Amino acid sequence: MLSVKGRAGNGYRVETPCSNTAVVRGAKPVLGVPVVIDVGHGGDEEGARGPNGLSEKVVNLAVAGHARAALERQGTAAVLTRTGDYRMTLDARAELALALRPRAFVSIHHNSVPDGPRAGPGTETYYQLRSADSKRLAGLIYEEVVKALSSYRVAWVADRDAGAKYRPNSRGGDYYAILRQAGPVTAVLAELAFISNPAEAQLLARPDVQQVEGEAVARGILRFLGSDATGSGFVTPYPRNEPAGPGGGKSGCVDPPL
Ligand SMILES: [Zn+2]
Repeated sequence: MLSVKGRAGNGYRVETPCSNTAVVRGAKPVLGVPVVIDVGHGGDEEGARGPNGLSEKVVNLAVAGHARAALERQGTAAVLTRTGDYRMTLDARAELALALRPRAFVSIHHNSVPDGPRAGPGTETYYQLRSADSKRLAGLIYEEVVKALSSYRVAWVADRDAGAKYRPNSRGGDYYAILRQAGPVTAVLAELAFISNPAEAQLLARPDVQQVEGEAVARGILRFLGSDATGSGFVTPYPRNEPAGPGGGKSGCVDPPL
């Protein structure tokens, strides 16, 4: 997806995935959509990697596609920020949120560096500190994903404070740029499972499991849009100092053919 900045002759001036300006012709603009699924990483920013060689960027795209398909089957239009294997800046992702003004913006990721073993999935959903809607969306996605993944009996791992949670920065705002920059759009960052864990990487490589995850994300979003349900799994996170993974900047970014 490209965000439109204005008309340019018989085409549109757009922001590219690398946050450059380009002109496209023959494309039909999307004026608004209730759900945007943000597909984490892409191109040479592959995100975390499983011991089986599985790339987070690949799993994120597959799961997001299943979430979108499940939403569309229920009559809820949804778009993906990234539709192929290319880099995309955090700015370009946030611009799409601000241009499309969806009711829900969900960033799909898979985690690494757990604290240790856990009896069930170590799913984490991060919400925007000052948004009750974001908190509810995070609780519903957490609830649906944990319920769906719990049917698999594997050696799960997690952080000690796995759950629906938040991470403040030193100024009391949202630590994660995508949550901060997408505001005022209701946004959640989901770390669905630990791709760094051999047992989970094996699961995540399976198309059927990718579909189960994507459909669970969609159910959480549909319950957010269609009910007052609050979700569950809310925790008080322990203070974190480790930086978020690298990437999301413009430097070295190469746009795909438009
Ligand atoms: Zn990630």
